[in-house]
Amino acid sequence: MLNSLLQSLTLAKAFSMLLDIGVVTVLFYCLFMTIQGTRAVQLIKGLVILVLVVVLSNWLQLHALSWLLNQLWAASLVALAVIFQPELRRALEQIGRSRLYIKPFENTDTDLQNVHEAVIKAAVEESKHNVGMLLVLEREIGLNDYVATGIKMDCLVSEQTLINIFVHNTPLHDGAAIIRGNRILAAACFLPLSDNPNLDMSFGTRHRSGIGLSEVSDALIVIVSEETGAISVAKDGHIYVNLDEKALRQHLSQHFGGGVKQIQARFRLKRGGKNE
Ligand code: ATP
Ligand code: MG
Repeated sequence: MLNSLLQSLTLAKAFSMLLDIGVVTVLFYCLFMTIQGTRAVQLIKGLVILVLVVVLSNWLQLHALSWLLNQLWAASLVALAVIFQPELRRALEQIGRSRLYIKPFENTDTDLQNVHEAVIKAAVEESKHNVGMLLVLEREIGLNDYVATGIKMDCLVSEQTLINIFVHNTPLHDGAAIIRGNRILAAACFLPLSDNPNLDMSFGTRHRSGIGLSEVSDALIVIVSEETGAISVAKDGHIYVNLDEKALRQHLSQHFGGGVKQIQARFRLKRGGKNE
């Protein structure tokens, strides 16, 4: 009996070790996928170099340099929090979103499909005529701060309305239009510019502001270039350029795919008082 107890203990221990390694591996994988192609990569390179210098200075017993580097560690923690404030905020918002807070979402899948079709048609039309466009599709992170910088609209999304907003030299065309569900909340909104140093120099402020918003929120941003007519999508801090109609549709359905039903189901449960 003792033998079998010991055996089950070692089995349990082996299982917990495997679980431990598995969780850490997944965490590192997620971290790597999140920071890939962002400015955090440069920072990690810098940290690795710093660690190597610390090890080397300890090994060579360079006491003054070791002391200096030790002081740097404390300061760099504060600096990290300041430099990566947007990324930290986004990560915390993602964690919070996954369990604690689910926003009421009242649109059906058909509504959302109609919105996507209107966005696609408007973008293709603007692209043909080289009309600049900056369209934000909100997801779960609320964008009220950015809506407040523009001109309130609160109207249903349609291809025609979207095209009309971006007619050159009209009061609403400058800045971004923000869509929540099947409504255009506001136009001429000001978005935060990305300061990612790895971005192509050819991107001007329209593209940088789209990418900037995608760095601090989970929104999808559709951009049409006034200069080239190229359609791009910014999401999760990345930009996908020169999209055709099919690719744009794919981005939209990937980013929002399945989300409506899941969110609605969870929200219904929550309202019934049975959720989490
Ligand atoms: P394009 O390819 O259309 O020329 P671009 O990326 O080169 O785009 P700019 O030429 O600098 O960008 O575009 C300027 C326009 O971008 C502005 O007129 C304005 O409509 C929009 N824009 C610039 N900055 C912001 C911002 N922070 N938020 C929202 N819209 C902005
Ligand atoms: Mg330009």
